[in-house]
Amino acid sequence: MKIMNSNLGYPRIGAEREWKKALEAYWEGRINLNVLHAEMKRIRLSNLKMQQNSGIDLIPVSDFTYYDHMLDMAQMFDIVPSRFRTAGKEEEIYFAMARGTEEAVACEMTKWFNTNYHYIVPELSDTVPTLVRNRPLEAYREAKTELGIEGKPVIVGPYTFVKLSKHYGNRSFADWVRQFVPLYARILQELEAEGVRWVQLDEPCLVMDIPAEDMELITDVYEQLHQAAPQLHLLLQTYFEGIEHYEQVVSLPVQGIGLDFVHGYETNRANLTRWSFPQDKWLFAGIIDGRNVWAADQEQKCNLLSELLQYVTSSRLSIQPSCSLLHVPVRVSQEETLDPVIKESLAFAEEKLSEVVQLGEILQKGGQIAPLEARRQLAKSPLRNRADVQQDMAQLLSREPMRSTPFVKRAVLQQEYFGFQLLPTTTIGSFPQSSEVRQARRDWRQGKLTEEAYRTFIRRKIEEWIGIQEQLQLDVFVHGEFERTDMVEFFGEKLDGIAFTQNGWVQSYGSRCVKPPLIYGDVAFVKLMTVEEVAFANTLTDKPVKGMLTGPVTILNWSFVRDDIPREQVCYQIAAALRREVTALEEAGIDVIQVDEPALREGLPLKRKRWTAYLDWAVRSFLLTTSHVKDTTQIHTHMCYSEFHDMIDAISQLDADVISIETSRSHGELIQAFEDRIYDKGIGLGVYDIHSPRIPTVTEMAHMIERALRVLSPRQLWVNPDCGLKTRSKEEVVAALESMVEAACLVRGRF
Ligand code: GLN
Ligand code: ZN
Repeated sequence: MKIMNSNLGYPRIGAEREWKKALEAYWEGRINLNVLHAEMKRIRLSNLKMQQNSGIDLIPVSDFTYYDHMLDMAQMFDIVPSRFRTAGKEEEIYFAMARGTEEAVACEMTKWFNTNYHYIVPELSDTVPTLVRNRPLEAYREAKTELGIEGKPVIVGPYTFVKLSKHYGNRSFADWVRQFVPLYARILQELEAEGVRWVQLDEPCLVMDIPAEDMELITDVYEQLHQAAPQLHLLLQTYFEGIEHYEQVVSLPVQGIGLDFVHGYETNRANLTRWSFPQDKWLFAGIIDGRNVWAADQEQKCNLLSELLQYVTSSRLSIQPSCSLLHVPVRVSQEETLDPVIKESLAFAEEKLSEVVQLGEILQKGGQIAPLEARRQLAKSPLRNRADVQQDMAQLLSREPMRSTPFVKRAVLQQEYFGFQLLPTTTIGSFPQSSEVRQARRDWRQGKLTEEAYRTFIRRKIEEWIGIQEQLQLDVFVHGEFERTDMVEFFGEKLDGIAFTQNGWVQSYGSRCVKPPLIYGDVAFVKLMTVEEVAFANTLTDKPVKGMLTGPVTILNWSFVRDDIPREQVCYQIAAALRREVTALEEAGIDVIQVDEPALREGLPLKRKRWTAYLDWAVRSFLLTTSHVKDTTQIHTHMCYSEFHDMIDAISQLDADVISIETSRSHGELIQAFEDRIYDKGIGLGVYDIHSPRIPTVTEMAHMIERALRVLSPRQLWVNPDCGLKTRSKEEVVAALESMVEAACLVRGRF
């Protein structure tokens, strides 16, 4: 008997990002809707065919989308906020919800669990949801008629769908879930009538710390869904962690349970051992890592499968990736510039499907495990292992990193040294990356501009903006980051142990894709990364110029990370490398150094009980980077979000002299957080939203400052924008900063 295999979702973007290109061409009016539909269909079918050719038994359908799968669900249920109703035809409304229009602001977008994928948040208002089309059915029919595929429709389950939505009006959460049950029931009935065998209901929220009483609701809901379509095989799919309330979840009236044995290994395995697995259900075992890019170790995976076979018979086991392959790039084979040992050690979506199929074959035929030669080579290779880094680490970690003088004393010394006025003004780092800047970089990369000419160009930009900052009379200057593309890529290219692919794109949100660096080996400092530009800027002014680095946790969280050593070790290595850059900046006379950690929060584990461990090593990494500086060197950090209430202790432990945070879009919620807790260090609450071209008035900004002063002392408050200014125009930046400085002046005058 053949062991079944399955897939949960496939990247939409295409090996050459055709999907992105088609969408953007449509938005820019270069192709019409018919052409877009045709191109989307071509991509969709080619993705399905790819999976068919790999030998996947249960191929997901309706995981494909024109923007985001949560948005698809919302539109299918007619959850369209009234501000979009006049946007036009179905497709226009769809894209308007995602991207906004002149008249209507887009729906909110937020992170899909702890991934770097962002979904559009459905807005549940007092309107009654209705089923306006059965998307899963359409997708099933298409796959069947076009390719003869017996597809497995994928739907976000009712509990997770409502949990991830925004709720308005006064209906309770449970009421909302119940509202959707008849709609889901109809979808399932129609699928059953069509002869569909398996349907995948994604319920990743079951891995979160959900209240026990929700299990009653979930049981009731699934009871009704089962009764609506009793012939249909429902697969309750979870991923990203082990499930909570295992005993109840596996007793739900469904035929299959999908568990993640990569990212939820510990919890799921402990539960299996304790409670076993119901004999009448299928176990869909996620064993190939859908979140990372390394080829699987077959031996280890076979051991895992043998372990699972103690709990289910092989006729009720399905092998699959741990989650949708949406989170990894499409294909390794087209990479041309990677070191062969690294390349052979990788598996993207296409390769992962082969791994799934191969594992099933090995298990069936018994034995014949092919050890992955490349991975073995990489494990031993000097590419991966650097004795100097390992020695350094051992020495650095032999004692807790911390600043030698506590903040209260440092603050006095720093104030004597810098002599800042009250409410000092500064910016977050980047100034406009104008088309001129991007063109120069492109020319230089293509060899059209010499190294020397490019450096001169960058210096001219720095001079221009130092001049602007003098005129604006800011208190702490920045050099403007003109030499940087992306804040992680820039450092990744200069550190050892990190590689870049040519085509390793992953969807981040909508048509936007990112190409995360690959941390394949011990990370090492090999050359100065930022000193030249910052030190140059520093020669042009008497004002302090802030050195600007991306922090270790952010570099880690925005990369694909080697999986042979714990993440925290990798983070410490990055921190140790950045520490040397900090030393070099200090030696070059830079006495304010900002280490950005916008991704600190993103790395928080899904389960609360794991937060402390993560924050502990994240904080230690930051301190490894920054804590060895002189008392009078002022360490700044920056974060782009405002949810601080639940991690304010960790933020405080970073022991940064000044932290700047996005505030203006959170409507003061953040300020509230400071009311209850004592935060005594320097803090810059962003006084204006840099994402919007709108420039707030002096009064508005002064008001923001005053509101902050209700809970913070004027000694500790800094005045700055929400984030870097690289996406804005020069005119916008100058006008906004002028008003910002004036607002600070105005408030200062009242003391
Ligand atoms: N220093 C960076 C900038 O100003 C910070 C970017 C960020 O917070 N994401 O662009
Ligand atoms: Zn930011």
